[in-house]
Amino acid sequence: MGTALITGASAGLGLEFAWQLATARHDVVLVARDTERLERLAAQLRAAAGIHAEVLTADLTDRADLERVADRLRATERPVGLLVNNAGLGLGQRFVGGDLAREESALDLMVKAVLVLSHAAAGAMTERGRGAVLNVASVAALMASGTYSAHKAWVRTFTEGLAVELAGTGVTATALCPGLTHTEFHERAGLRGSDSYPELAWLGADRVVATALADVRRGAVISTPSLRYRVASGVLRALPRTAVRRIGELRVD
Ligand code: NAP
Repeated sequence: MGTALITGASAGLGLEFAWQLATARHDVVLVARDTERLERLAAQLRAAAGIHAEVLTADLTDRADLERVADRLRATERPVGLLVNNAGLGLGQRFVGGDLAREESALDLMVKAVLVLSHAAAGAMTERGRGAVLNVASVAALMASGTYSAHKAWVRTFTEGLAVELAGTGVTATALCPGLTHTEFHERAGLRGSDSYPELAWLGADRVVATALADVRRGAVISTPSLRYRVASGVLRALPRTAVRRIGELRVD
């Protein structure tokens, strides 16, 4: 996979992707807004794994910043062989009466940035005849839980379509669909209700990332870490949508 570009690398799943990829001897390009955290991580990865680590500070909701990241994906020097579209957030607000500017920003981050960066990466990778795009969706893609479900349903379906289009090119597309995972996500979103979920419902970021990378290596289109969330996803797909809507209030981000 050569060099991996990871969005949202300053925390949570992105940070874990950076560590596991660096440990597997991949060079990394680290993307997020917090330069200080990214620089600290890059230094740690260089020291621990001896790899080349670049920091690319970008707010992916800003078009100029997004274009700089897309340009890096198109660059021929140290070409990117794996794009991990991971940056995301929970809004922690209801749609009706909620702040519309925050809604638009979340859509830019979790849909538009995924679209633009996938376009840049898939174009460059197909020219080289190899590469992989990993888009982080969620088990929430199968639910009816606010605009977050809608964003993640878009990511999941978009990635499946991309995988179909890429068949035979040497480039793959995978949608990662985790359930509840211990990261900074819920605290940042102010989702205090998530504390009430039993520990059994939670996954560790290390396991989610290890499963995702193994699934990318075998060219899987959908990656759902853990048996319990594979069963939950199967149930959600089998249930009538009227029943899914009834559990829409049970937020599994
Ligand atoms: P996290 O710990 O809060 O990390 C989110 C990352 O996204 C941070 O590195 C943050 O960095 C970055 N980010 C946020 N806004 C950004 C922006 N405008 N531009 C660039 N980077 C931005 O959350 P996480 O759980 O690791 O989330 C990673 C992905 O997993 C998300 O797509 C999320 O929807 C998905 N997911 C999470 C769970 C879960 O339970 N945790 C479950 C299913 C799916 P900066 O603040 O430095 O920019």
